[in-house]
Amino acid sequence: MNKLRAFLFVLVTLLPALCWTAPLEVRRDIHFPNLPGYQVMACDFHMHTVFSDGTVWPTIRVNEAWRQGLHAIAVTDHIEYQPHKADVPTNHGRSHTLAESAAKSHNLILIKGAEITPDTPPGHFNAVFLSDVKPLDTPEFLRAIEQANQQGAFVFWNHHAWKGEEKGRWLDVHQTMYDKKWFQGMEVANGDEYYPTAHQWCLEKKLTMLGNSDIHEPDLRKESASEDHRTMTLVFVKERTPAGIKEALLAGRTIVWFKDQLMGREELLRPFFNACIEGREPNVRSKSAVVVEVRNNCQADICLEPAGPPPADQLPPRPIVLPANSTVLLRIPVTDPAKPVAPKYTAKNFLVGPGKCLSVTLKIPGQPLPGKKSGK
Ligand SMILES: [Zn+2]
Ligand SMILES: [Zn+2]
Repeated sequence: MNKLRAFLFVLVTLLPALCWTAPLEVRRDIHFPNLPGYQVMACDFHMHTVFSDGTVWPTIRVNEAWRQGLHAIAVTDHIEYQPHKADVPTNHGRSHTLAESAAKSHNLILIKGAEITPDTPPGHFNAVFLSDVKPLDTPEFLRAIEQANQQGAFVFWNHHAWKGEEKGRWLDVHQTMYDKKWFQGMEVANGDEYYPTAHQWCLEKKLTMLGNSDIHEPDLRKESASEDHRTMTLVFVKERTPAGIKEALLAGRTIVWFKDQLMGREELLRPFFNACIEGREPNVRSKSAVVVEVRNNCQADICLEPAGPPPADQLPPRPIVLPANSTVLLRIPVTDPAKPVAPKYTAKNFLVGPGKCLSVTLKIPGQPLPGKKSGK
């Protein structure tokens, strides 16, 4: 009987403690490398809730993003398009307000935004880092864009070819906005769609490249895996704050993660690739090959294909897939194992422009064979 009493005592006293320590939710982190002076943040600047044409309550957007490892989001309900207004009355900015406490408890940066939704053309534009959404509710499109800029917002052109390239053309109205610096970026990818023309325009016109989910339905993913993740923007910030994100967006320090592709300006994508790949000292050097570990430090698989003819004294390199957050063991054929090996590849899923992949070199250090003395 005493034993039973003791058991019940332990149960009653420990059970609440066990409940307190059980995790409320689980987050699967996103791993991409930082760059010297910059930290990487995974961001999604385009999504909807029941306060426009989405089907979820605003707090759900926070839960989804946190669970999938994102660091910052903007809830951007349509200003003009409010199909649920009989049940959820128009209340601009309310979705942001409702999501704020959830964002705080999840340590997720929540940026106030809205989608300015006139007809196409001129198309839809997102304004993020707004202070007040209401003044943007005007039938005059350019007035809404001007108002967003007066609030210090970052404005970008969404899914420009959503209704076809012919309707997503660069028109006088876009040129007017561009000349006034009233929009600073474009979506190169939106959800499952990629826009090569927007990609090219971003390069030519120095606009910031963005990739966003534009989710309307619940996003049921538990993680952001290489083979299945929402479209997002990797932002390289000096500081992990809303102001830090805005500064990085204005400076164009972004890489778009869309399906199996990473897209960005070469000056950013090249150091990013070099930070993702870690080539190590070979484990074995034989007369005909070196065996070496190569690590992929990023969340995306990296696909390398041989580029051009190999150096005269080396045999052709082979195609390689480096799985996300993994180390592979490679056997690289050589004719002189003491020499450094530098096979050249094309990183097939690192795009520096539409259809243009990043050229890279794997660098495997050389070393004299045991017993062989250096000439110096
Ligand atoms: Zn839209
Ligand atoms: Zn949208």
